[in-house]
Amino acid sequence: MSRARLMIPGPIEFTDDVMAEMSKPTPSHVDPAFIDTFGQALEDLRAVFLAGKDYQPFILAGSGTLAMDSAVANLVEPDDQVLVVDTGYFSQRMADIIHRYGGETTILSASPGETITPEQLQETMAKRTYTLVTITHVDTSTGVLTDVQGLTAVAKNEGALVMVDGVCAAAAEELRQEAWGVDVYLTASQKAIGTPPGLGLLVVSPAALAKWRERKQPVGSYYSDWSYWWPIMQAYEARKASYFATPAVNLIMALAVSLRQILNEGMENVFARHVLLSNAVKAGIEAMGLRQVPTDMEHAAHTLTCPRYPQDVDAGFLKAVRANGAILAGGLHPAIKNEYFRIGHMGAVSRADVLIALGAVEGGLRSAGYAIEPGVGLAAAQAILS
Ligand code: PMP
Repeated sequence: MSRARLMIPGPIEFTDDVMAEMSKPTPSHVDPAFIDTFGQALEDLRAVFLAGKDYQPFILAGSGTLAMDSAVANLVEPDDQVLVVDTGYFSQRMADIIHRYGGETTILSASPGETITPEQLQETMAKRTYTLVTITHVDTSTGVLTDVQGLTAVAKNEGALVMVDGVCAAAAEELRQEAWGVDVYLTASQKAIGTPPGLGLLVVSPAALAKWRERKQPVGSYYSDWSYWWPIMQAYEARKASYFATPAVNLIMALAVSLRQILNEGMENVFARHVLLSNAVKAGIEAMGLRQVPTDMEHAAHTLTCPRYPQDVDAGFLKAVRANGAILAGGLHPAIKNEYFRIGHMGAVSRADVLIALGAVEGGLRSAGYAIEPGVGLAAAQAILS
């Protein structure tokens, strides 16, 4: 029997080439071939984020939370005023990290399923000066997509740096780091970037590097301190041996393969494929009569779909979905946790995958006693895909 497809909002299914790379013998971290692979991965990460040559990529052993920790530890100093655009669970985590490093926050919160508009940000920023604005590109707990371009334009105009958590968006949602003026864009390996969990990834603008260099106080985290990592990333990109702490060698080799696959597809194609597959899933869910957490499809993510359970169905139905071929996730946002489930569709996801997921949801709903005609969701998705 074939295994169920993993279609949660990360980790995702990885390509065969990426998994084959993971299984190779581990080389020395100063082996010339590995140095070249690491250097290429740094260059390719910059290209995936559409950032310029003077933007600094960092590839660190750790998860997405480490990428957030690294960015905040280096860019926030005690008493800095930070505006957190809060669209759910992971924006709250960003605020927690900022507090840990002594920053003060103003939290501009949207209720679950809503977003924050550039006009709302403008209104809040008019009241005081902030050194930094943080934004979650896609909040994995609500499936809400923020207008990173519009919000960044407002924040930059007010003189703040902009940090974007792209963990559930990078290499899937449209993002033009340099053109839009995003100072830090960060993610983790296990989502659309397409490499097993274990890497935190960041690309940092020259303006953010300047703020870090001008710090008055040392960075409050030893492992995250860019004073150690910046020279390492510079050395690998110059194809020179270097050491601060052992890099996650096999993961970086796999990342290099995945980044190549993404760039070979082309960023515009990657963005368009995610929109198409997301539209198909959302059409299928709607045809099954299910509502979704985002209150307007204009601000719904293309990396995941968050359907609300119909009456008399709860998370118990996910077991039947799995038996029908797809592993999906339950709710995450504390305020609505038991009201919805989540379907991830990012990275190397295909038309076949989304049809498997929708077919499994139909099967699961029918075994939970929710009466729908077999194939109704699949037909709506097929209509979009063809
Ligand atoms: N931010 C967002 C938007 C996420 O989706 C996640 C993970 N789901 C994180 C941060 C944290 O990443 P990790 O679990 O890899 O630490």
